[in-house]
Amino acid sequence: DSVVYWMRMEDLRVHDNRALARASAQAKKDNIPLITLFVLSPQDYIAHDRSSRRIDFTLRNLRSIQSSLAKLHIPLYTTSLSPRTAIPSYVLSLLREWNATRLFANTEYEVDELRRDIKVCELAQKEGVVACSFIHDKCVIPPGDILTKAEKGYTVYSPFLRSWIPHLTPGDGKEDPLACAPPPAENPASVREHPLYGKLFDTPVPDKVEGFAFLDKDEEERIRTCWPAGEEAAQQMLDRFLHTMARSSQMGAVDPLAEDPTRNSTKDTRVGKYKDARDRVDADTTSRLSPYLAAGVISARECIRATMELSTNKKQKIDASRDTGVGRWVQEIAWRDFYTHIVALFPRVSMGRPFIEKLADIKWESESSEDHLQAWKDGRTGVPIVDAGMRQARAMGWMHNRVRMTAAMYLVKDLMIDWRQGEKYFMETLIDGDLASNNGGWQWSASTGVDPAPYFRIFNPYIQSKKADPSGEYIRYFVPELREVLGDEIHQPSPALADRLGYPRPLVDHFEARERAIRRYKNPGQE
Ligand code: FAD
Repeated sequence: DSVVYWMRMEDLRVHDNRALARASAQAKKDNIPLITLFVLSPQDYIAHDRSSRRIDFTLRNLRSIQSSLAKLHIPLYTTSLSPRTAIPSYVLSLLREWNATRLFANTEYEVDELRRDIKVCELAQKEGVVACSFIHDKCVIPPGDILTKAEKGYTVYSPFLRSWIPHLTPGDGKEDPLACAPPPAENPASVREHPLYGKLFDTPVPDKVEGFAFLDKDEEERIRTCWPAGEEAAQQMLDRFLHTMARSSQMGAVDPLAEDPTRNSTKDTRVGKYKDARDRVDADTTSRLSPYLAAGVISARECIRATMELSTNKKQKIDASRDTGVGRWVQEIAWRDFYTHIVALFPRVSMGRPFIEKLADIKWESESSEDHLQAWKDGRTGVPIVDAGMRQARAMGWMHNRVRMTAAMYLVKDLMIDWRQGEKYFMETLIDGDLASNNGGWQWSASTGVDPAPYFRIFNPYIQSKKADPSGEYIRYFVPELREVLGDEIHQPSPALADRLGYPRPLVDHFEARERAIRRYKNPGQE
């Protein structure tokens, strides 16, 4: 007999992994081995517009997990399967082959994934041999635990946050929501000799997923330098954010962990300065943990626990509601929970629908859209901050939040291109693509989502640029045509200067485009 833990694309870790911990405890109790399984599903990855960077990151992390688990004599068996509809019966066949009595997995909240897991439960129930347990792990506070008085999901962030913060503290007699899941126990070494399980140790993680190209040499080196795989790298990234000072500029493909971190007092650290510095793109001000959080290489609970420990007074925990660097950072992690709850409770948002249904008929540009969309993707819109952001996305697979907002709003409101096109491109390009956060960010920018930017509050990209990149360093780094431009002109070069430097002129006039957007949002369905 055996117990199986089925790992998925969003929980790529051994430390603080609830389903893995539960599976291990069960195996220990029943005195049987624990087997771990990962099913690569090329069709799902294509359907979800996964980027090759994210696929590469997944495989790299799987390799690291395989070697961590092997030290505990726990095999990680990775296999690939198409079509995706075959996954439930295939998983059941593996469970049969391994004489599994129990299956554990962390819940994925997207519609396709929930349907797949329901199917697995149905098949298992029919056969009556394996009991399945799906466990909440992705969010700090699980979807469904934070509801309004009317027992509905919150659709506005501030009251959600007010309700979320008290949930971080354990209630009387209740389990601590931030408790770290125990590490998995070692399998007996004899499992390696077992005819059923021994061979699983010999199956390496594939080096490629069907339908996804290998990264070319340059790209591979850049992406792997920016985003080293493994739980240790994620921990170092967190440590660097909580304990070291921001460097004034670190925009490109440099090893984020290369410098020896110097310890500082809390107020000088990145997290200490986060409240005031986080919107600056010309310095390395945020944690850059999103690729690790999106792939579950580190748990969101771990991030909050480590932050709480920064308190100098150990009895008095950090107050997440306070308007400090630490408070603000915890509140950003609450945004991640908020958008995941929305996907779980309002599944239409993950099916290409706007949350605000009446905005489904907005008239998008069709004539100019192909060229304009391509120029936006290529970072050649003629608006330097947008272009720098889009080139950063292509180079690093990551963008700073302010630039994501500015570039997204520019596509939707200035170019009047359907937000779903941008949502798709971000997923295809970013290494941290997460359906809930990406959809939430896009629907915020398009004013169609929960708690969105009001449709008439349209970002002026030139003003955003001056605020986010006052030194112009960020633009100069990612837009080499403008490298020699000093002063304010970097944010909005004159046509003569742009022509001389071979930099494009703006695709549209911001003020005319703004009028058009407001008109169309006021009267959905009309020109
Ligand atoms: P930090 O500022 O250090 O924040 C810490 C963590 O909190 C992040 O790693 C992330 O997990 C979470 N977080 C922060 N801001 C947000 C937010 N607004 N919404 C949800 N979670 C947040 N984030 C993704 O993880 N994946 C995406 O695919 C994604 N797409 C986005 C698309 C658009 C149009 C916009 C406007 C935002 C998107 N975000 C996405 C949110 C945000 O931009 C990134 O999480 C952030 O830039 C990551 O950098 P960081 O790790 O340094 O963040």
